[in-house]
Amino acid sequence: PAGDVSASREPCLSLQGVAKQFGAFTALEDIDLAIAPGEFVCFLGPSGCGKTTLLRIIAGLETQSAGTLVQAGRDISRLPPAARDYGIVFQSYALFPNLSIADNVGYGLVNRRLPRAQVAARVEELLALVGLPGSGAKYPAQMSGGQQQRVALARALATSPGLLLLDEPLSALDAIVRVRLRNEIRALQRQLGLTTIMVTHDQEEALSVADRIVVMNRGRIEQVGTPLQIYREPASAFVAEFVGKVNRLPAVAEGDRWFRCGAHRWQCPAGQGSDFRPGAPVLLYLRPEDRVVGPLAADTPGLCGGRVEHVEFLGGNCLATIRVDGLTETLLLQFSLNQMDEFEVSEGRTLRFALRTDRLRVFPAAS
Ligand code: ATP
Repeated sequence: PAGDVSASREPCLSLQGVAKQFGAFTALEDIDLAIAPGEFVCFLGPSGCGKTTLLRIIAGLETQSAGTLVQAGRDISRLPPAARDYGIVFQSYALFPNLSIADNVGYGLVNRRLPRAQVAARVEELLALVGLPGSGAKYPAQMSGGQQQRVALARALATSPGLLLLDEPLSALDAIVRVRLRNEIRALQRQLGLTTIMVTHDQEEALSVADRIVVMNRGRIEQVGTPLQIYREPASAFVAEFVGKVNRLPAVAEGDRWFRCGAHRWQCPAGQGSDFRPGAPVLLYLRPEDRVVGPLAADTPGLCGGRVEHVEFLGGNCLATIRVDGLTETLLLQFSLNQMDEFEVSEGRTLRFALRTDRLRVFPAAS
């Protein structure tokens, strides 16, 4: 559960030293990754980080410039797409518009010369699996975007592939359908025990569905971890800033994990920031929810006072922008609706609170 591929099981897919050059441009550099059977992995990163290129290399739709790919013990590095064992769903629904839904879903099965009756039964089974029973006679144009993606999913699953590849399958859908479908894909993936890789640039999507997230930046892997590890224990300033909301505070190291930030001095938790020599410029990161309110002793670590400048109401909670005494930067802190009432979090009020210094993350200012 710590997020590592269990040593006892052979990975479903392993990538070693995978790289990709487009002419002089390096799109991927030295990618090592092992994905366990049954895992749901998201490739997450900003536009241009190389996540789609990596997925296409796994699919054999793009050829890596270097490196090895092994799927279920078989070296697939040089295999053409048709010889690999995966199903794929693209962002654009990519259904054949002139074929019925049944023919779209059964396409790969007919290619394998299965008997008609067997194809028909399997197609109906697949349509039921994706929540579209009995719709085989329709045509793609008669279906909504979400329904077309379900059909694309059924088609990808038709041949019972060992690996499901999803290339931003939800990004063309509206917000409500997107959330519903991602939960359905996740439920189906669990039910089938299907090893799945999904490319997304949507961090909330990755956090909500993935067993592990591979955060990518500029053609490299920044961090691989469970959603909680990525959110709580970002391995770099990039990850801290790319995933979730975060406060970023310039500070100066004082040694022994102590850091001076404006007029404040905070000690980072064990394992954080012990390798900075005194005087080194750093960046401290703290999530908006990592604060304590309520009666606080004068020696509480991270104790602060400040004035609420702005409150962004979000329904069950709010994000308050607070001008903190002794800090140049304002802080963004999250309060539940109940805390908002109890501590009168509203514009113009002054508040006392303590930052959860045990949750601070520290990175070199240069990164
Ligand atoms: P997006 O979310 O925008 O699709 P991405 O992370 O999936 O981004 P890729 O599509 O993998 O990014 O592209 C990575 C980089 O490689 C980009 O800078 C892109 O311009 C470049 N690239 C991709 N395909 C080619 C190509 N065929 N020729 C040249 N450069 C390419």
